[in-house]
Amino acid sequence: MIGNKIAPIIGAEVDTVICCDSISVNLFKLLSAAMLISQSGLDTFNKASETKIHSNKVLSQNDNFPTDLYMVQGLSNLVGEQNCELLSVKADEIVSTIEKYGHEISVLMLTQVNFRNGDIHDIKAITELAHSFGILVIWDLAHSAGVLPLELTKWKVDFAVGCTYKYLNGGPGAPGFAYVAAQHFRQLQQPLSGWMGHKKPFAFDHNYEKSVGVEQLLCGTPSIISMSILDAALDVFSEVSIDEIRHKSIALNVFFQTCIKHLSLKIDLNSESLTLACNADASQRGSQISYQHKQAYEICQALIGRGVIADFRAPDILRIGFSPLFLSFSDVQKAADILVDIMRNKTYEQPQYSVRNAVT
Ligand SMILES: *Cc1c(COP(=O)(O)O)cnc(C)c1O
Repeated sequence: MIGNKIAPIIGAEVDTVICCDSISVNLFKLLSAAMLISQSGLDTFNKASETKIHSNKVLSQNDNFPTDLYMVQGLSNLVGEQNCELLSVKADEIVSTIEKYGHEISVLMLTQVNFRNGDIHDIKAITELAHSFGILVIWDLAHSAGVLPLELTKWKVDFAVGCTYKYLNGGPGAPGFAYVAAQHFRQLQQPLSGWMGHKKPFAFDHNYEKSVGVEQLLCGTPSIISMSILDAALDVFSEVSIDEIRHKSIALNVFFQTCIKHLSLKIDLNSESLTLACNADASQRGSQISYQHKQAYEICQALIGRGVIADFRAPDILRIGFSPLFLSFSDVQKAADILVDIMRNKTYEQPQYSVRNAVT
């Protein structure tokens, strides 16, 4: 099972992770299941649930990755606002909102590393706080899995999702994964009750009877070719620790910033300079650096034109991700050289770079 290759990377026990579908689909399954568990009285949960009132609220962050918020909105449309309602607040208001309104919240759904600025949430502390109010937590590990040290089981995380095409190197379109803490297996009831999640898929029974473990999250036939590529990509992780990967990730980030600083001294970037749009301390952010610029899209396209694959994140963010397992320090130096060259020569003003692509 591929899930068991992902489990040690995210600090999960064996047989608690399943590889399938996309983050969006897995979030829908887990959001729905978590709301049901929460509203049916959390019999496997803690004492805080005894004082819990029936709640329809899913708390999240308003600058979460949009699909995460869209999935709550979709569930809300399906089951009605009285059963599921999104409450989204600013990142720095999450803790105070839980402290103030925790008893009215069913589920907390957050992404550990923000996709624009790379800010990192403290999973352990926030999960602990949420649990003290009887709130179930779902963490999105899209920009964490494979690059940040994680201890899902130790931190008592209820549910998590992630993708494998970012720092797990599964390649474009590789499937996502979902984690369920073992104590929730029995109560879990996910809405996409497809045959692959059935206890005996090849018995072809008339009635759905869910599988016992985390396989109950399966829905339909998996994309076997994608999964076999991912299976090979995951082998690398048995030879290197996440701490070593994080160490190199920070070193690559620091080196990039040093190169940019050094190169910028020799030229005048002034009016056209990029504004840092993330924590300047690489150890305090995910494996990425973000700059703000009104022509971030064009700059990103010019970088791609020179072989540096960066991302544009609307409205005005240039994000450069550092994947430690295959990027070298000389790659990073080359990327810094090219970025400074593009800025200095205003290459990004060439018309071909302003053509908008569907994927940015
Ligand atoms: C990349 C990313 C996704 C992608 O979701 P898919 O359904 O797998 O396309 C979701 N959430 C976050 C936070 C992401 O960064």
